[in-house]
Amino acid sequence: MATGNALFDDIRTNRESAEAPQNEDMAEISESVIDPLQCLKPNVVVASSVRELLECPVCLNAMYPPIHQCSNGHTLCSGCKPRVHNRCPTCRHELGNIRCLALEKVAASLDLPCKYQNFGCLGIYPYYSKLKHESQCAYRPYNCPYAGSDCAVVGNIPFLVTHLKDDHKVDMHNGSTFNHRYVKSNPHEVENATWMLTVFSCFGEYFCLHFEAFQLGMAPVYVAFLRFMGDEHEAKNYTYSLEVGANGRKMVWQGVPRSIRDSHRKVRDSFDGLIIQRNMALFFSGGDRKELKLRVTGRIWKEQ
Ligand SMILES: [Zn+2]
Ligand SMILES: [Zn+2]
Ligand SMILES: [Zn+2]
Ligand SMILES: [Zn+2]
Repeated sequence: MATGNALFDDIRTNRESAEAPQNEDMAEISESVIDPLQCLKPNVVVASSVRELLECPVCLNAMYPPIHQCSNGHTLCSGCKPRVHNRCPTCRHELGNIRCLALEKVAASLDLPCKYQNFGCLGIYPYYSKLKHESQCAYRPYNCPYAGSDCAVVGNIPFLVTHLKDDHKVDMHNGSTFNHRYVKSNPHEVENATWMLTVFSCFGEYFCLHFEAFQLGMAPVYVAFLRFMGDEHEAKNYTYSLEVGANGRKMVWQGVPRSIRDSHRKVRDSFDGLIIQRNMALFFSGGDRKELKLRVTGRIWKEQ
């Protein structure tokens, strides 16, 4: 951005005035760009400004090599470069094909806090390994686990629980056992129908019980499964069972809840839950098989 580039100009000016006579140093730099590293090292305060400097003026994302610049020194990320039609977005001059090695080197010297600092991560990472950490950071926010819509809300677990209650009006239940009835008047319309999600609160944690109809190849089926509102390694501490039946028959599923880091669709498509063929579901529903009336009972427990 403008301030970032101004700072870059400042750094360059400082170096030129302070070290211009030392031509031997200059000779060691193979590229024609000036290396601002040496004047940065003692200056800790500069770090946050350098961060701004590493922000692409177009997309505002952090820039990673190759970082480009125009002949006036304005920088641009490699993702945006093909989209600006060879015009510098800052000064409108022709962009050309100049790589900003200096800034790439400065970036390599930086240690930055994880971008999920506000969510509680205290990690500090070298610039180039920060992205990798952030893709796996335990504090990164979760996607909304509601399956029936493309909800873009993200946040930590307490925030999402409130969101599910207030915005999706999900059923909330306390306790580790449940007895839930799923009713649908026209079970022959499968079309990936999704039921309301039910959220269970027990052991100080939250679990999402999904129940829905979907088409498995040619066969319409129902699937029920549990997801844990937290990370995979914590999900593994729990086991759950689901049971459905009638007329002396019953189907039982025992499983390990999946983390909501795994999308609802991913879990469903891996069949990691209780799968009930529609014919069986209608048989369990009793009556004239015109209406789906399934009673699903279940339990969640903690493995020691
Ligand atoms: Zn960009
Ligand atoms: Zn420019
Ligand atoms: Zn982190
Ligand atoms: Zn949502």
